[in-house]
Amino acid sequence: MIPAELITHKREGQTIPPKDLEAFVQGYVAGTIPDYQMSAFLMAVFFQGMAKEELFSLVEIMISSGQRLDFSHLKPYVADKHSTGGVGDKVSLILAPLLAAAGLAIPMLSGRGLGHTGGTLDKLETIPGFKTTLSLKTFQKQVETCGLAIMGQTEDICPADRKMYALRDVTGTVPSIPLICGSIMSKKIAEGIQGLVIDVKTGNGAFMKTKTQAQELAHWLVKIGKRFGVDTDVVFTSMDQPLGQNAGLWCEVVEAMECLQDNGPADTMEVTYILGAKLLLQAGLVKTIEEGIKQQKDLIASGKAFEKWQSLVEAQGGDVSALDHYKTLHQPRYQEVILAPQGGYIQEMNTYQLGMAAVQLGCGRLQTGDFLDPTAGMTFHHKIGSAVKAGEPLLTCFNSDRTRLELALETLRQTVIIGDEFRNHELILNNE
Ligand code: URA
Repeated sequence: MIPAELITHKREGQTIPPKDLEAFVQGYVAGTIPDYQMSAFLMAVFFQGMAKEELFSLVEIMISSGQRLDFSHLKPYVADKHSTGGVGDKVSLILAPLLAAAGLAIPMLSGRGLGHTGGTLDKLETIPGFKTTLSLKTFQKQVETCGLAIMGQTEDICPADRKMYALRDVTGTVPSIPLICGSIMSKKIAEGIQGLVIDVKTGNGAFMKTKTQAQELAHWLVKIGKRFGVDTDVVFTSMDQPLGQNAGLWCEVVEAMECLQDNGPADTMEVTYILGAKLLLQAGLVKTIEEGIKQQKDLIASGKAFEKWQSLVEAQGGDVSALDHYKTLHQPRYQEVILAPQGGYIQEMNTYQLGMAAVQLGCGRLQTGDFLDPTAGMTFHHKIGSAVKAGEPLLTCFNSDRTRLELALETLRQTVIIGDEFRNHELILNNE
C-alpha cells in the first residue's frame, strides 16, 4: 500500500480494498502515516463517501486497532447511549447514572468536543479530580461494581478513533456519514454492549442539517449495529436550538446535576427520558415507552439516580464534596449579556454559530491540544417561541479570558432572530 496512491484512489471515488485500508489506519495509529496524509484521506472520504463493505471494513479496522471488551458474564443488560453531536447536549451525563440506577450496566466510551459541538469528556474533566483515562481493567471492574463507567478512547481501546477524532475536529472533516459511523460504532461495539440507543440530531446545529441526511446516517448506524450484533435504536431530535438552558463546560455539568435532582429544563429531560425508555424497553425491563419514562422519573424523584452519579464521580477520582457547593465552583471572571434588539417572538437560533461561539469562549479547540476554560459557556434566557421585549436579556456568555469573550461576542450578535409571529419548535421528531 502506497499512502499517496490510496489517497488518490479515494479522491477519485474508488473503493479501498480492506487490506490497504487496514494498513493505512494501522500505520496512522502506529505513527508511520503522518497527520497530513490522514487529513487528506479524511477529506477525500468526506467528498467521496464509502461503499457499504468498505464502511463495514472501516468499522472493523477501527475496533481492531485496540481491544474489545467482553461483559457476557454480567447479568444486567449491557447497553449505552450516544449522540451524533449537538450544542448544550448533556444527556449522557444524566442518562448514564439514571440507567445504571435502573439496573443496566453502562460501559460508556465518550468523546471530546468535535467541531462546534460539546464533548462529554471535556465536561466531566471540569469536576475536580475526575479521571477520564482509566485502564481497561479498572474500567471493566467499575462497570461490574458500580454499574457504569465513562471514559475516552485510549491506547488500548479504539486508538484509531482517538487519533482520527482529534484530527477531524480541526480539519473540517466531521460531517461525513462514513466517518461519523466509523467513529461512533467502533467505540460502541468495542465496549462489548448488547444494546445501543443513538440520538440522531438534525437541524442547523447538527452535523446532519436535514432530516433526509439524518435518516441516511441513522440507516447506516442501524445497519452496522446489526452486522456487529448490537441491538441499535435511533431517536431523531432537533438541533435547531441548543438543548437545555446552558451550553459550555462546567455549566453543563451543573445543569445535568440539576436534572438528576428533578430540577432540570423540560427539553433536556424530554430527550433524556425518550432515549432512556428505548433502552429500558430493549432490556425488557418495561413493556412500553410510557412505563420506561415513569420508571426514570421515579428514579430521579427517589434520589437514586443522583446517588448513582455521586458513586460515578467518586469511583473515577472526582471530589464529591466539591459537588456540594457546585453553584460556586468555576465562577467565570467575565460575562456579557446579549439583549433583544426588538420585541417579538424568538423565530430562529443559529445553533452552529452558538456552538462556534462556545468554542471561541474556551469550551472547544481551534487547534489540537488547545487549553479549555472550565468556566466558559452561555446561558439561554429564551428559546424558539418565547416572547421577548426589546432590551430583555437573550443570552449571557461567560468565561475567564477577556480576548476570547470579545471574539465570541462578535459571533453571537446575529445568532438569535426575533420576529412578529409565534413559532413552534418540535424537539422529538417523527421517528420514521
Ligand atoms: N460522536 C462521535 O463519537 N463521533 C462522531 O464522529 C460524531 C459524534
